[in-house]
Amino acid sequence: MDLTIEGKIYHNGSFEQGCLAIEQGKIAAIKKTIKTDVHLNVGNNLILPAGIDLHVHFRDPGFPQKENFSTGSQAAVFGGISCVFDMPNTDPQITTMQALTEKTRVASEKSYVDFGLYVAVSDENIGRLVELSPFCSGFKIFLGSSTHSLKLSTQNIRVALLETNRTKKITLIHAEDEHCLKIHEDKEHTLVDHLRCRSAECEEIALRNILNSSQGLSSPIHICHLSSCEGFEMIRKRPRNMSVGVTPHHLFFDVHTLNTKQTFYKVNPPIRSSFDRDTLWYGVNNKLVDILESDHAPHTEEEKHVDFNSAPSGLPGVETMYPLFLNAMKKGHITLDTILMLLCERPAQLLNLPKGKMEVGRDADFIVVDMKKTQTISAEALHSKCGWTPFEGFPAIFPSMMFIRGEKIIDDHQLLVKQGFGKYVGV
Ligand SMILES: [Zn+2]
Repeated sequence: MDLTIEGKIYHNGSFEQGCLAIEQGKIAAIKKTIKTDVHLNVGNNLILPAGIDLHVHFRDPGFPQKENFSTGSQAAVFGGISCVFDMPNTDPQITTMQALTEKTRVASEKSYVDFGLYVAVSDENIGRLVELSPFCSGFKIFLGSSTHSLKLSTQNIRVALLETNRTKKITLIHAEDEHCLKIHEDKEHTLVDHLRCRSAECEEIALRNILNSSQGLSSPIHICHLSSCEGFEMIRKRPRNMSVGVTPHHLFFDVHTLNTKQTFYKVNPPIRSSFDRDTLWYGVNNKLVDILESDHAPHTEEEKHVDFNSAPSGLPGVETMYPLFLNAMKKGHITLDTILMLLCERPAQLLNLPKGKMEVGRDADFIVVDMKKTQTISAEALHSKCGWTPFEGFPAIFPSMMFIRGEKIIDDHQLLVKQGFGKYVGV
């Protein structure tokens, strides 16, 4: 054994005061007492699996003013996320082998956390997905236009899904129907306008299309950031290979409570009504959705400080996601069991990762948390390069330590490893 840690370990659905032994980056044993020369006692603090975020935009390469893989992965580390999966709408867009190879190099040099990379499916690269597949973690399809994204023509969805199905890898889909968005397009001045222009109907139409186009296919398909009641009803009876994610911003905000700095909450799909928000909470608390995903999509304050119509869509969130839900648990809004299923276990399952659970043989990726230490979220203390957070002032519980593959990554706000520690996983 290389190291043992003693504390309150979440194991098999409950807490046990015990010890965790780590050998070669893996959990080697979980017992009442085991001790090695290197033994760390964290007392009454909780030892929980680290989170996995399968939806981030670290903007690297292409948008260094917003974020890069170094700053984005630091934000992940301090938010208790040991593994992220980055979206392909960088510059260049990740649609070719050359772009993917270059991005793999950039991320490998800079990342503090383990990571995976997706390839974007465009009308042009459908025929090359099988060839790209061994080098990526999965595929991303944008059905509707969004900031910096490249969309797939609606008529190509079936052929695209047939191709990604051959690769057996996961396909993630941004489900807003382009034709519907075009019909509702108008000048926008407020978040309510944005909501009207990207109505729930557009999500519903896209989901119906995905359900029809994926008939008979067996590879995993993931619906990103479900946002509406209509969408929830549409996807409720989904095939077994289809999963659904929800973001913190769709759970913590509704459009009528956001009166100031409206451009900062402009995001796609939009933040909707309290009715939609309640539906999403219902889905989360009844495990009718599969995962929580941050859709961390930073833009600078200057970029957001423009008139509403010109403001880019997207907001940061990888660092605040796990801490917000730990606080929500303390308040009784969600159970720990649900958080760990949606933030750790299911994402690990979807991406075939040996992570996400305190179990012998899995990667020793975990966090140490003092549940008594509620903090107030402040952008100043966060690590994303964009320098602001939509959750300013929200109570949250941040981890005091984080381990990845048995290595201590942070200890009380100190970063202990160098960039490049993170490994490319999930390929
Ligand atoms: Zn996204």
